[in-house]
Amino acid sequence: MQIKNILSIDVEEWFQVENLKEVISQEGWAYCEKRLNINISEILFLLERYEAKATFFILGWIAEKYPEIVAAIDRRGHEIGSHGYAHKMVFTQTEDEFREDVIKSIDILEELTGKQVLGYRAPSFSINQNSFWAFEILSGLGIKYDSSIFPIKHPEYGIPSAPRFPFEIKLKNGMKLIEFPLSTVQVFGLNFPVAGGAYLRILPYCYNRWGIKRLNSEGRTAVVYFHPWEIDPGQPREMVSFSKRFRHYTNLDIMKQKLKRLLKDFEFTSFSKSGAIDD
Ligand SMILES: [Zn+2]
Repeated sequence: MQIKNILSIDVEEWFQVENLKEVISQEGWAYCEKRLNINISEILFLLERYEAKATFFILGWIAEKYPEIVAAIDRRGHEIGSHGYAHKMVFTQTEDEFREDVIKSIDILEELTGKQVLGYRAPSFSINQNSFWAFEILSGLGIKYDSSIFPIKHPEYGIPSAPRFPFEIKLKNGMKLIEFPLSTVQVFGLNFPVAGGAYLRILPYCYNRWGIKRLNSEGRTAVVYFHPWEIDPGQPREMVSFSKRFRHYTNLDIMKQKLKRLLKDFEFTSFSKSGAIDD
């Protein structure tokens, strides 16, 4: 039997990413060209065509401005999770600021769908060793699972020593939270990402297919993500450093093709439909 992998989409606009923060502040978001509607329509169409389900971790700011997007995703049977409200890195916030940000996003999403938000993904995987307190707060807000830990070495995020597969986090309040790390394969003791996103966009498709096949052959479910702006080569170009431009703009024109291949080669479902979370 073919393993069902987990697909997740971090729903944000092209101008809300960490790589462009130095040129576009939160105050500037209102004035940027909005491109999410068309990108989400294409994604929903693709998922339907390949009979896949996904979890959409939606930014509260987005849900507030585009309630119709939340409704469209919900109507098609996909899961809706929280990506926070204002895309602030968890480790740059105080505990109170973090709680406020997540509550705001959950309130908006639950009001729109009438369904409980069960999952959370931190902006840019920003839960690290200095922000493990976030799990206690998430659990206190009714969150059952998190998918923010990337067991790799990266300049901005990652905990290379973290477990590579889903695990339970036991909390002080006696509750537990399930963590779904983003997928990696291990070669010579080093973890290499095979979790979609920039890795799918920039690295050859055959590498990604090899990695996910390898996980599945070990009986493991892959946890894969991407962003709506990654399939949008028509988005405005901003002048930031070469490395940031490389990470944000490389291969935007071929990402949709790669996604189609991924959806054709593997079966995908959402976290809530994967059977790994008990409500
Ligand atoms: Zn994000």
